[in-house]
Amino acid sequence: MGLIRIPTPLRTFTGGKDEIGTDAVTVQAAIDELAQNHPGIRERILDGDHIQRFVNIYVEDEDIRFLEGLETKLNSRSVISIVAAIAGGSAAVQLTSDESARYERQLRIEGFGEQGQNRLKAATVMVSRCGGVGGTAAINLAIAGIGRLILAHGGNVVPDYLNRWVWAGPQDVGRPCVQVLAEHIRRLNPLVEVTPVAEQVSETNIHGLVKDADLIVDGAPLFEERYIMHAEAVKQRKPLVMGAMYSTEGYVTTVIPGETPCLKCLYPTKPDYWTNIKVFPAIGPGPIIVGSMCAMEAIKIISGFGKPLKGALWRFDLETCFVQTLKIRRRPDCEFCGSLRSS
Ligand SMILES: [Zn+2]
Repeated sequence: MGLIRIPTPLRTFTGGKDEIGTDAVTVQAAIDELAQNHPGIRERILDGDHIQRFVNIYVEDEDIRFLEGLETKLNSRSVISIVAAIAGGSAAVQLTSDESARYERQLRIEGFGEQGQNRLKAATVMVSRCGGVGGTAAINLAIAGIGRLILAHGGNVVPDYLNRWVWAGPQDVGRPCVQVLAEHIRRLNPLVEVTPVAEQVSETNIHGLVKDADLIVDGAPLFEERYIMHAEAVKQRKPLVMGAMYSTEGYVTTVIPGETPCLKCLYPTKPDYWTNIKVFPAIGPGPIIVGSMCAMEAIKIISGFGKPLKGALWRFDLETCFVQTLKIRRRPDCEFCGSLRSS
């Protein structure tokens, strides 16, 4: 069965549901079906026979205006995304004057603008873990105006985190990491809704964490956690930005399920030596650059602006100022994403 992703402003018509299954064979038929079951939603999407000019509809990651419009064909695995760039009406996402003032400089970025900002405001990002990489990503997303952050991270602050966590000080040692980060983010930008979850991701909690998010930022130090997040993101077809660092070296890539390689395409098995690494070398700029890059990737994917690192691994080594972008490819036999249709 295909899937229609309902953006936050339209969930008022779907009883809060964020995803609705469909067996329709065209986008038009899917919207007709949706409208029949959820009165009021049609006018938000269509103006007569046309898509409202302030709505973008995607099948996988393609705007249907560049496919066959409402006649775009669907298959049993298609994902239709209705993008919440809606202006006007009570359910609309619009910037308040405070927000316009706050984000004034980024609204000037060509290709981002108010539409990009509205899309950020309507989006939820789940970040795990929230250490040097994930915490930096979360802070950058917060000050850029993301609507909601779900922060998943277990454990308390210890002194050796403080060389790279710019949001924590000695007074925070012993306090739950996620609480310290959430308080910092609320101070920086009270407009952002923050949901701290004081747990690592696991087989038990991952479904709900991913379900509530539009995009995942993976900053986990362990492959076990990364695999859990990637498997679920691929299953629920949610984009995921992966950031990793070791010493002065950093990696970032972006996974769009069904389109790009996933973590299992890149590393089908985990290296045994990584399992026992409890303390790894790190200095502030490494995770901060990785985390900032992850935030920028998330901003680009959510706002639909720029060129994200799809099928590309961005890596650097700060020791020598080395920077490289490598092409990565999907493995047709990939355990996680091999069965998904390529677009
Ligand atoms: Zn894969």
